[in-house]
Amino acid sequence: MASKVYFTDMRARSPKDSGIAKVERLITALEPERAIRRGDLVAIKVHFGELGNDAYVSPVMARKAADAIRALGARPFFTDTNTLYTGSRSNGPEHLETAIAHGYDFAVCGAPLVIADGIKSSDFREVEINQKWFSRAKIASAFLDADAMLVISHFKGHEMAGFGGAIKNLAMGCAPALGKREQHSCRFFVKKAKCVGCGLCVELCPVAAPALTQRSDEAGKKSAVIDRARCIGCGECALRCPTKAITMDWKVEIAEFTEKMTEYALAAIAGKKDRVLYLSFVRDVVPECDCAPWADAPLVPDIGILAGTDPVAIDQAAYDLVTASPAAPSSLIEGKAGPGDDKFLAAHPDTRGLIQLEYGERIGLGSRAYELVRL
Ligand code: SF4
Ligand code: SF4
Repeated sequence: MASKVYFTDMRARSPKDSGIAKVERLITALEPERAIRRGDLVAIKVHFGELGNDAYVSPVMARKAADAIRALGARPFFTDTNTLYTGSRSNGPEHLETAIAHGYDFAVCGAPLVIADGIKSSDFREVEINQKWFSRAKIASAFLDADAMLVISHFKGHEMAGFGGAIKNLAMGCAPALGKREQHSCRFFVKKAKCVGCGLCVELCPVAAPALTQRSDEAGKKSAVIDRARCIGCGECALRCPTKAITMDWKVEIAEFTEKMTEYALAAIAGKKDRVLYLSFVRDVVPECDCAPWADAPLVPDIGILAGTDPVAIDQAAYDLVTASPAAPSSLIEGKAGPGDDKFLAAHPDTRGLIQLEYGERIGLGSRAYELVRL
C-alpha cells in the first residue's frame, strides 16, 4: 500500500516558510501522537557529522523535532553509534565532543545526547530477523530500549551504498562496531600502480591491515599491501586514499554489502515499526557520507525536506526527486548526468544503491509505493 510522504521545497519568502517552520509543519502532518505517547523515551537518530564535515543536518533544524516530541509529553534524546573506523567518533567521549563541536549541545538542540552503544561500542543486544544473510543482528541498546524513534536523515551520496538515507541511517547508524563489521563484508586491495606510498591507509586502518612494503620495480619506493584476511571492509582507506589506489571487486561484493545493510535496517526497527517516524533532508546532497571529514559541492540544487512513516518509501521519494533534478553546476557530476539520470551512479559508478529499495521491499522493511503530498 502506498504510504504518504510529505514534502516541502526550500523556497522561503517570509518567516512562515523558514526551514524551521517547515520542519514543524512536516512533523505536524505526520500526526506524531500516533507513534509517540506521553512518557515515552524517544531516540532521535541523527548523524553528528565527522569533524571537518559541514553537510550534516543542522542542530537548529533538529531542535524543532525535539520540541515537537517534548510537546507530546515524551522525553527526546539525540543519539548515534560509534564508528568502525578511526576518526573523531570512534568512542563515546570523542563522539560526544564531536557532536558538541558540531552544535549538538543541549543549549542548541534542546535535548540530551546519548551515544547509543556506549563508550567502547559494547552496549548492544541481538535481534532475531531470520533473513538471507543474518538470522540475528546486533543493535545498540539505546535504540532497543527507546519506546519510539524519530530517524532524521541527510539524504546524500555514499561511496559504497550509492546513496544514504533512512535505510542506511537505520542500518549502519543503529549498529555497534561489531554490527557494522558484519555488514561491511567487502575486502579491499591496493592497485600498486596507483599507490604513491604515502602511508595514510596504514595510519587510518582500525585493524592494521595495510602495511608499506618495498617495491620490487622501483628502488627506494614503497607501496601499500592490504592483508585481506585482516581487513574488515570498513572502506575508510578507500575513501581517504589520495590517489584512489584502494578498491575491491565491486561486481562480486557490492550487492552482498547492500543487502546485508538493508537487513540490518529491518533489525533496527524490529518490534516497533509503527512507532518510528522519518524526516529526511534532501539538501546539500553531497557525493559522500557525513562520515567523510569534508563535504564536496552538492550534486543537485537543494530539493527540500521529506517526512513519512516508511523508510523505503521516504528513500524512494528522495531518490526520485534527486533523479528528476538537473545536476548542480560545478559539482562532481556536472556534464555527466541530467534530469532523469541516476546522480549517485554518476558519482559512484560501481555502487548499486537501488538494491536498498528493491531488497528492502522484498524483506518487508517497507514499500516503494508512495503518495507525495506537497505541504
Ligand atoms: S593511502 Fe593510497 S597512496 Fe597512500 S599508501 Fe595507502 S594505498 Fe598507497
Ligand atoms: S584495510 Fe580494510 S579494515 Fe583497514 S581501513 Fe581499509 S577497508 Fe578498513
